[in-house]
Amino acid sequence: MIRVPILMYHAVDDDPAAACVRPSRFEEQMAYLSKAGYVSVDLDAVHDYLSQGATLPQKPIVITFDDGYRDNVEIAYPILKKYGMCATIYLATGHLGYSNRWNAGDGVAQRPLLTWEEVCSAAGNPILSFQAHTCSHPKLTRIPPDQVREELGRSKQMIEERLGRECHHFAYPYGDYDDTVRDAAEEAGFLTACTTRWGHNRPGDDLFSLYRIGVRNGDSLRDFKRILGEPPPLWKYYWLRLRAKVAGKPDGDGKSAW
Ligand SMILES: [Zn+2]
Repeated sequence: MIRVPILMYHAVDDDPAAACVRPSRFEEQMAYLSKAGYVSVDLDAVHDYLSQGATLPQKPIVITFDDGYRDNVEIAYPILKKYGMCATIYLATGHLGYSNRWNAGDGVAQRPLLTWEEVCSAAGNPILSFQAHTCSHPKLTRIPPDQVREELGRSKQMIEERLGRECHHFAYPYGDYDDTVRDAAEEAGFLTACTTRWGHNRPGDDLFSLYRIGVRNGDSLRDFKRILGEPPPLWKYYWLRLRAKVAGKPDGDGKSAW
């Protein structure tokens, strides 16, 4: 059974904020994925695999960005293209052309979001897919159900009208959802919804509670391999076993240290 990792990024920039990944790190990660044989797939392919058993490459990888920061197109896009990766950008449609105003009151640094003109222009690139992340970026479990429906339906509709193509995928702001919000996402006509819950996705998993793997600012390449669930190379496994034997420790020690 193929396990599908969905990576979650926000901004790609030299800003030291936790939600930003440095461009040099991002490039290192994309280069690694390409070299390690990962094949970039989109959420339509993941939906078809998880729900209908459609074929998927042996080592699939899904790359997602939340919110719609301008650097996703200016900085991440050329790197994605260089390494043959495709990506999904979830847009907080009501804030496009402004910034991440929803968390300005919490002292979070403000970063420019894409404008609609930039989204429409970037949507011409086949490796970028623009999907929905509500209009105002609320905590969906804290607002009444009719408002939840409005947030989901309106962001979907705006993307479809502006881009002239269907919008099938959604990500819960803050990863905040419950059964009511989950059902609203399905009723709004989406095919999948991503959470911020950590993990890989397997056939039989709920398409409206997809797991993701968040990449953080401080993650080294070694951390990145570990969060992807990459097993250590065989030589390292045996070397650690040998070292544990010499040190008189049980065999398991070295393996768990990875
Ligand atoms: Zn968000």
